[in-house]
Amino acid sequence: MTTTHPVKERVTTIGEGGRRFWLYPAQFRGFWLKRRQWVSVILIALFFVLPWIKINGQQAILLNVADRKFVFFGLVFWPQDLYIFWFFVVAAVVGIFLITAQWGRLWCGWACPQTVFLEHVFRRIERWIEGDATKRKRLDRGPLTWEKIRKKTLKLSIFAAISIHFANTVLCYFAGSDHVVYMTFHAPEANWNWFMFMAFLSFVFFADFAWFREQFCIIACPYGRFQSALLDEHSLIVGYDARRGEPRGKWRKGQVHTSGDCIDCNRCVAVCPTGIDIRMGLQMECVNCTACIDACDEMMRKVNRPEGLIRYTSVRQLDQKNRKAIRPRSIIYSALLLVLLSCGMWALAHKRSFTIQMLRSVGESMRVQDAKVINQFQLKIANQTADPLVLSANVPQEFELITPLPQWKVEPQSTSVVPVFIAKPISEFSHTGKEKVQLQFKQDDQVVFENQVTLIGPSS
Ligand code: SF4
Ligand code: SF4
Repeated sequence: MTTTHPVKERVTTIGEGGRRFWLYPAQFRGFWLKRRQWVSVILIALFFVLPWIKINGQQAILLNVADRKFVFFGLVFWPQDLYIFWFFVVAAVVGIFLITAQWGRLWCGWACPQTVFLEHVFRRIERWIEGDATKRKRLDRGPLTWEKIRKKTLKLSIFAAISIHFANTVLCYFAGSDHVVYMTFHAPEANWNWFMFMAFLSFVFFADFAWFREQFCIIACPYGRFQSALLDEHSLIVGYDARRGEPRGKWRKGQVHTSGDCIDCNRCVAVCPTGIDIRMGLQMECVNCTACIDACDEMMRKVNRPEGLIRYTSVRQLDQKNRKAIRPRSIIYSALLLVLLSCGMWALAHKRSFTIQMLRSVGESMRVQDAKVINQFQLKIANQTADPLVLSANVPQEFELITPLPQWKVEPQSTSVVPVFIAKPISEFSHTGKEKVQLQFKQDDQVVFENQVTLIGPSS
C-alpha cells in the first residue's frame, strides 16, 4: 500500500503506479450530518419495511419480472400496461435532469443507496470496531497480529451478514417477500435460480461496501459522468469561497491572522469520502455529501470566523453574481415533467382492471359444419384486480356464440384462456368470405368492453 498522498492531476484514489489509494475519511459532526443521518434512517427503514407491507393483499412494491407482474401501492401492472410505466420512467429521468440542474448532486449526497449504506451503515461499523481514521490506517499498515485478525474478522463478518440481509431484501422486491420466506425454510436446490441470484447479490454488495466503496461513484456510476452536461453555473453545488478563504495561511493561537479565512487545516480533505480537496474547485468526484461543509464550519467556529467558507452555493454566487433559480433549462425540464406526469396519471386513471384478447386459434380455425361457418378463437382474459372477475359475452343475433360455459370466472391476479366458437349459417355468409362481428363483454349486465373480430368463410 502506498503511503504518498495522491497527486491532484489524477483521480484521487489512484496512487503511485496506478495502485489504489485507500481512503480513511475522518469522523466529524455537524448541522448537515445530523440531517443526512435522519434522512438515511428513514430511507433505510423504508427499504427494509416496504416489502413486508401489504395493500389490498398485494406487496406494496413488487417487481416480479419472472411473472411479468409489477405492483405499486395496490396498483397491479402487467406487460400490456408498460406504456404507463414509460411515462413514469421518462418522467423520473427528466426529474433527475431538473433536480441536478437546480440542486446539483443532491441525490448522490442524500439519497443514493451507495452513499446511504456506505456512510451511515458500513463506515459507522468500521469506526466502531477499528477506531478513528488514524487508528484504522495504523491497523491496516501494521503487522498481522491477533488483534488485527480479531478486528478484521469481526468487521467483515458483520459486513457479510448485512450484505446477505440486504440481498434478501432486494430479492423480496423481485420474488415477493412471501416467496423469500418460503425459500428461506427450504433447501437451495428447491429454488436454485433465486438462491444463486441472492448469493451473487450478497457477494456484489459485500465487495462494494467492504472494498470497492467510493470507486463506485468515481468510476462506475454513469450519473457522476453526465453531471457536466446537466450542471450549469446556476446549479447548487458544495463550493469553497476562494475570495474569502485565500490566501490561506496557518492559524496560530495568540497571533493576528492576516491571511484569508482558510487556515489550511486540511480538515475538509480529511473528511472527504472521495478524497478530494474542494478548494481546487468543482470536481467530478464530489458527491455533494456536505462533509467538508460541516468540517470547515467546525474549524471556523474554533477560530472565531463566520461559518460558510465551504457551503451550498453556485459557481455564479462564488463569483459574486446572482444565481437564477428560474432559467430556460429549468422551465423546459419542468414543462416536460408536467406533461409526462399528466399523461402518466391520465393513463393510470384509464387503466382497465382487466384485459381481453381474442386470438384466432392456430391450426383449423375455420370449418363448415351443419350448414354453418364456424370460426374458433382463444379468448384470453387477464384479471388484474384483487377480486374474482365474472364476464359474459354476446354477439349480434345473426351470429351464434358457442362456449363451454355461459360466463367465465377469472380468479384475482390471474389469466384464463377459454375456447370460443362463433358461427353463422353459410347461406347468409358474405360472398367475400369475410364477416366482421362485434362482441360485447358484460360484467353485472353492464357492457364493459367491446371487441371486433373477423370471421373467415368460404368465398364464392
Ligand atoms: S468535496 Fe465535500 S461535498 Fe464533495 S465529496 Fe468531498 S466532502 Fe463531500
Ligand atoms: S476545513 Fe476550511 S479552513 Fe480547513 S483547510 Fe478546509 S477550507 Fe480551509
